[in-house]
Amino acid sequence: MSITCPKCDNSIMLQGPVRKVHCNACQNDTDVPVKYWKENLYDALEWIVSDMKEGESYNLMQFGLFNTKWSVYELVPRCSKCEKKLELKNVDRNKESKVKCSKCGKETNIVPAPSWLKRRVPTADFFVNVQMHDKLEDREPAITGGIALTCPQCGGALIIDGKDRLVPCKYCDVHVYLPDDLWLRLHPVEVKSRWFLVYDKKEVEKIDFDAHWE
Ligand SMILES: [Zn+2]
Ligand SMILES: [Zn+2]
Ligand SMILES: [Zn+2]
Repeated sequence: MSITCPKCDNSIMLQGPVRKVHCNACQNDTDVPVKYWKENLYDALEWIVSDMKEGESYNLMQFGLFNTKWSVYELVPRCSKCEKKLELKNVDRNKESKVKCSKCGKETNIVPAPSWLKRRVPTADFFVNVQMHDKLEDREPAITGGIALTCPQCGGALIIDGKDRLVPCKYCDVHVYLPDDLWLRLHPVEVKSRWFLVYDKKEVEKIDFDAHWE
């Protein structure tokens, strides 16, 4: 799922039902209202119960508050690395946890439906493989062990922590702008990932979707 940044038209990935997104292109934050999630999740649930079969998907481009590009699947949650179905029977749906893939060992995060969402979409149970927090905090550094780069003016060693693209040289006071290829290694372009909403099928089938929209 991705939206177009309302400030610069760059595309921003939605890796879960987040309330705020950060645009890496223009550096602005945008609030994602509860209403947006409620409407989209109800839409998805309605398609799923009305005419989707396991394994089917819809690709959509929606115009509204944001221009949203997304694919909706009816699918049992799978490991993002090897596609093995995840074992979710023992998941504690009231707290954040991780489930380990029985085939490749990759861990996938489990996040309970946040209360603001649960109030509007009571059939939402928990989420699988979502990223709810700010990416930069959560993400492991793309490069560990340090990077050797010298100041082009004085040849002094620069200290690069990956946070700031403009690095001051402590020897000659010049500021060095890190080149594109190095910056992209430190901050890889985010790619779309598939995330899952686990829902109560019996409860979803009881929803009167026509009444819901009136
Ligand atoms: Zn932007
Ligand atoms: Zn796996
Ligand atoms: Zn220098």
